Amino acid sequence: MNNKDNEHGFYTKSIHAGYTPDSETGALVPDISQNVSFTFDSAEDAADKFNLRKEGFSYSRLTNPTVGALENKLAALENGAGATCTSSGLSAHQLAFFPLMNSGDDFVASAKLYGGTLNQFKNSFSRGFNWNCIFAEPDEPDNFKRALTENTKLIFIEGLSNPTGVVTDIEAIARIAEDAGIPLIVDNTIATPYLCRPFEWGASIITHSTTKYLNGHANSMGGAVIDSGKFDWSASNKYQTLSQPEPSYHGLNFHKEFGEMALTYYLHAVALRDLGACQQPMNAFLTLTGMETLGLRMQRHCENAITVANFLENHPAVSWVTYSGLDSSSFKPLVDKYMGGKASSLFTFGVKGGYDAAVKLVNNVKLFSHVANIGDTRSLIIHPASTTHSQLTDKQKLMASVHPEGLRVSIGIENVEDIIADLSQALDFSALIAA
Ligand code: PLP
Repeated sequence: MNNKDNEHGFYTKSIHAGYTPDSETGALVPDISQNVSFTFDSAEDAADKFNLRKEGFSYSRLTNPTVGALENKLAALENGAGATCTSSGLSAHQLAFFPLMNSGDDFVASAKLYGGTLNQFKNSFSRGFNWNCIFAEPDEPDNFKRALTENTKLIFIEGLSNPTGVVTDIEAIARIAEDAGIPLIVDNTIATPYLCRPFEWGASIITHSTTKYLNGHANSMGGAVIDSGKFDWSASNKYQTLSQPEPSYHGLNFHKEFGEMALTYYLHAVALRDLGACQQPMNAFLTLTGMETLGLRMQRHCENAITVANFLENHPAVSWVTYSGLDSSSFKPLVDKYMGGKASSLFTFGVKGGYDAAVKLVNNVKLFSHVANIGDTRSLIIHPASTTHSQLTDKQKLMASVHPEGLRVSIGIENVEDIIADLSQALDFSALIAA
C-alpha cells in the first residue's frame, strides 16, 4: 500500500515499482492473486489483522496482493504516500469523499469535468449522501474562493479536463484550498503522472480512472485514490473521521496511529470494507501490465495528437479545435507550466454543418473506433451531445462546452498518417452536409 520506490526515474518506476519478484517462486511479474480470502496462522494472528494491529491480507474486499502491487506502483508514480484502488474511476470519487464529507456538507468542484462526474456530483451525491456540490468556472481561480462556505470540506478539479482539454491552474487553486484548511483533490486521469504530478503543485489527493491511459488497452475498469500524506487531518475539527476515535475499530484514531498513511488505511479498512467497491485482481494485473509502457505510450499519444490537431485546425470543413497543446490555445501557457508543453491526446473539434455533419463524420470513419472510451492505444471517436453528455440539460451541456457540432477524439498510437487519412476521408462526407 505504501510507496518505497521514490529514488528512480519515471520509466524505471513504471516498470519496477510496486512489486519485487516473489521470494518463493522467483516469479518476475506479479501473480494474479485470484483469492477471496487468506489463511491466518492462528486465532491471535486473525484478531491482530482484523483489528489493524498487524499488516497482512485477510479478505480481498479490503486488500489483495495483486491490487496492492498496483497501489504501490500508482503511489510511486504520483510520489504519494499511499494509494487505494477501486472498481472504477467514479467509485474512486465516492471513496475519496467518504471520509471527508458528512451529510449536509458542501464541496466545490470545477464546472469543467467529465460528464459522468458532473452527473454524479450534481444528482447522485446530493440525493444519496446529502453532499452538496457548488460548481465554479475553472478559468478564474478566485471563483473557487468565492464558492467556499463554512461547510466546504474539499475542492475537486480535473487538471486536464475531459472532453475539452481545459487546463486548470492547480497551484493557484491549491493555495486557495490551503488557506481554507481543506484538501484539493485532482482527477489526473487525462494528464496521467507522465505529464503532470499534482502533488508537486500543492494538491493533497489525486484520483484516477485507471480504465483510461494508465491501463491503456481498454481491457479493464478501475480507479484509484492516491494520498500525498501531507494534509494535517488533525489541524481542525473538520475531519473527525480521521482525527477522532473510529467506533468500528474500538476507538482507533487513524491519524494518530498511521500518520501520513491515515487516509490510505481508512480507505481500505473502513471505506472499502463498507462500500465494497474494490478492484478485481485480474483488472489490477492487466493495468499493471499496461502501466509498464505508460511513458512510451503517452509520448506517442501526445506527438500524434498535436499533429492531428494541427491538421484539423487548418481543415476547411472544421470550425474549431480545443486541443490545449496548440499554440493558438489560451491554455498553452498552463500546458507549458504543468505538463511540459504536452497535452495528452483527448480533445474536441467542431465541424461546419452542425449536428448532422458531426453524425455523418462518425458514421464514416474506418480506422477510428466509435466507442464511449478514451485513452486506448486505438484512435477513438464519439459525438458527446448525443451520447456521453446526452443526460445533461442544455444548460449543463453548455457549461461542459458540449456543442451539437462537436466530436470528441482520443488520438491513439497508430501511424499518424493513417489517423489523418481516416479523418480526412470522413470529413469529405461531413463537408457534403455543410455545403
Ligand atoms: N474521470 C475522468 C476524467 C474520466 O474521463 C472518466 C471516464 O471517462 C472518469 C473519471 C470515470 O472513470 P470510470 O469510467 O473508470 O468510472
